[in-house]
Amino acid sequence: MMKRVGIVGGGQLARMMALAAHPLNIRCRVLDPSEHPPAADVAEHVRGALDDPSSLARLARGCDVVTYELEQLASSSLEDIASVVPVRPGPRAVAVASDRWIEKRFLRERGLETAPFALANSPASVEAAVAELGGGPCVMKTRTQGYDGRGQSVIRQGFDASVACELAGGSEWVVEGFVAFDRELSITAVRSVTGEIRAYPIVENHHQGGILAWSLAPAPDRTNALQRGAEAIANAILSALDYVGVLTVELFQCGSRLLVNEIAPRVHNSGHWTIEGAATSQFENHLRAVLALPLGSTAAAGVSVLVNILGELPAIEEILALPDTHLHLYNKPPRPRRKIGHVTSRTSAMTEARERLAMLLSISKASASGSNQQNHHEWRA
Ligand code: AMP
Repeated sequence: MMKRVGIVGGGQLARMMALAAHPLNIRCRVLDPSEHPPAADVAEHVRGALDDPSSLARLARGCDVVTYELEQLASSSLEDIASVVPVRPGPRAVAVASDRWIEKRFLRERGLETAPFALANSPASVEAAVAELGGGPCVMKTRTQGYDGRGQSVIRQGFDASVACELAGGSEWVVEGFVAFDRELSITAVRSVTGEIRAYPIVENHHQGGILAWSLAPAPDRTNALQRGAEAIANAILSALDYVGVLTVELFQCGSRLLVNEIAPRVHNSGHWTIEGAATSQFENHLRAVLALPLGSTAAAGVSVLVNILGELPAIEEILALPDTHLHLYNKPPRPRRKIGHVTSRTSAMTEARERLAMLLSISKASASGSNQQNHHEWRA
């Protein structure tokens, strides 16, 4: 029997979800304002604004469930469709994760550790917040709408608060103490309608300019204590939100402490390795969860390297010549810093994974410095 899933947003996350849906005879329909979003290659596309009631109604018509691939949404519009068709994860997850101030307080109320933080809405209150947090350095983030490092600026001693506000953009900010973390980790977990939770192994993430550049999965030197600590955080969040679907928690590791940076109430870039590197991908598990189907195993097979393709296409043939290496292109026009694809390479051990990572990074670097125009023409639709 065929199931239908509506997805708010038609980017690469919706595209990969629709690809995971086909073998299970699940059909996806996406709502996206652009003319040809990445998911439109593999799913029915309703063109419209993400908060337009009639477009949302067209998306939901005939669907078994509606889900979403981004959290920068009005939870009220999700609540409207929730009266017609189940919306999973529930709109509350969006209300919490789309507003850094609400998100941080939600975490603190549950006893989960975060960077120290304060709310500001003017250059003077930014200065007061920085003083309250010990004088800096601090990271200033727009309260809403920021992602991939956008809407952020680092404030150091002797800063000009007006310039910092200008750089970050927006009118309200969460000012956070700068965390001198040992490394960045994330945990992706899935919760079913019956409350069953399965977590993937923790992942080590490396960012450039606030954008995920590459990940190693499972994270090197993953101890049981670290994995259990991350799972406890994910479980607390999933249960508090009565959450259904896949969620990722971005973490800062400081010694044995884990601080929560942010929550992504959706499938997540740091979970892309699960397509080839885990028994069940995050995309399939998300679909299983929101359709009230049994969850699949989250076990990893070997060690995976995930490298994002940012801005422009690397030498495709060189990547495909590597063993057990899988290329995903999103059919997005190249633009500086834009995520246009990713590569997952599977290996049997961490030493091999690091060698593979070095190869992949050198291929991307060589392509970025040389002319790669031919690739663009050959691989773009
Ligand atoms: P975010 O948009 O909150 O995920 O931030 C993007 C990246 O900026 C993070 O992955 C970190 O590398 C860095 N970052 C964010 N907040 C902090 C912080 N409070 N201290 C240090 N680095 C941070």
